[in-house]
Amino acid sequence: MRKSIIAGNWKMNKTLQEGISFVKELESKLKNKNVNCDVIVCVPFIHLVSIYEIIDTKIIKLGAQNNADNSYGAYTGEISAAMIASTGAKYVILGHSERRVFYKETNLSLKKKVELALKNNLIPIFCIGESLEERKSAKQNMVIETQMKDSLFSISANDFEKIILAYEPVWAIGTGETATSNQIQDMHTFIRKIIVNKYGQAVANKTSILYGGSCNENNAKEIFANSNVDGGLIGGASLKIDTFLQIIETF
Ligand code: PEP
Repeated sequence: MRKSIIAGNWKMNKTLQEGISFVKELESKLKNKNVNCDVIVCVPFIHLVSIYEIIDTKIIKLGAQNNADNSYGAYTGEISAAMIASTGAKYVILGHSERRVFYKETNLSLKKKVELALKNNLIPIFCIGESLEERKSAKQNMVIETQMKDSLFSISANDFEKIILAYEPVWAIGTGETATSNQIQDMHTFIRKIIVNKYGQAVANKTSILYGGSCNENNAKEIFANSNVDGGLIGGASLKIDTFLQIIETF
């Protein structure tokens, strides 16, 4: 009904040479395995062209980690969705909490980014998640619903179907602390219900909802056993071949 997906978020890690040798090795190992999920690597912008040239996209798919909230023009240092698409990459992470927190991205600027990504045929991997204070004060559902409404709900059902969601509690990213199985299942069920209410059951059934936040080779199996979890957005554990492969093999 919907795709299982493991996406690696390299963040600001790996030189071009390290990135190239990583994907070569990953691809050669994946070739000999029965892989039951889509595998995506989201790499730094300047690696996109070189990596796209050497991968078989049937085995490894390629994504970026951000796109600008404008189409083109005088925005020094920015990279547009059209530029990303022109490299051959098909995915883009948007709304990652590190960008929301460190670069002050808002639900409104993310709405523009999502629209531009879709206009350029990129598939957004859209991250939503609450902070520790929000979780402690039981505001997580309200935060997630607002993030989805403000950034995504202006798009058509047809476009929404293309989006991949990633629930990433901010307090679990890079901290070694994972949400419990119950917390994950509750939130993923809630997210799917929000989609049902806005776009209907058929669209909700097709939407892949990934979990992200200190997911690793030891906890992946338990996390992915939840019926509403369709895979993972993996940070730290996607940087090493062995750990990333073990997570992929969980499916
Ligand atoms: C992420 O960056 O999206 C992430 C989930 O990171 P980590 O797996 O390192 O917590």
